Formats: sequence, C-alpha cells, structure tokens
Amino acid sequence: MEQMYAYKCTKCGKLHHPRYVVCQNPDCDGREFTEVPLEGKCKLLTWTRVYNLPEGYMQPWLHFGVVEFENGVRVTGQIGFDEGIESGMELLATVGIVRTRRILYKESIDCEETGFVFVKP
Ligand SMILES: [Zn+2]
Repeated sequence: MEQMYAYKCTKCGKLHHPRYVVCQNPDCDGREFTEVPLEGKCKLLTWTRVYNLPEGYMQPWLHFGVVEFENGVRVTGQIGFDEGIESGMELLATVGIVRTRRILYKESIDCEETGFVFVKP
C-alpha cells in the first residue's frame, strides 16, 4: 500500500500537496520539505459526479471530491461509495488503486495508478 504525503517547508512550515520545488508561501523561498503522511480523518468540501471517464475506469461514472485534512491540506480523490454523499461530511482518506490502464507494448501490461479513495468513517 502506498502512502500519500504532504510536504512541509522546513523554513516556514507551510504544508503543500502535491510537492513543489519551491515553497508556495510568497514570503518564503524554502526548497526543503519534510514528508507528512496524509491519511485518516478529513472533511468533504465539495464533490461531483463525473461521466465519460477515460479508458481504464470500470464504472459508468465516479464521484470525485475535494477534502480538507485536519492540518488544512486539501486534496482531490475518488469517493468510494455512492449513497448519501454530502458536503461537510466526515470521511476517512485511504490510498487505493483508482485506475488500471492496459498498455500494449509487445505484451500487454496492466498499469495501476494509486490515489486517494475517501470512505465513510
Ligand atoms: Zn516556506
């Protein structure tokens, strides 16, 4: 299981996700970051149902959401259930396989992409 991280500037402490080369704080030029695991409790800020998914998704639609962790970091990911999705609800962030792509190159290779999957606590 892969772990997702936020990146904390060692100079000013600002958290980033995803990783940047230079700190995004306008008053800081930090270039070193420490990894902070992103997982567990988060709050759903907004969500949407997406149709016409790219190849590799095995469902007719998917729910994508933006959540905020308790440390203020916001990330997007897949919502792992269909019923009762409401903005403001508490969720748990897990990391899972969000998409399998079959790449045909001499032989076929299944390429799995991981990302956030939000589940009910
Ligand atoms: Zn900084």
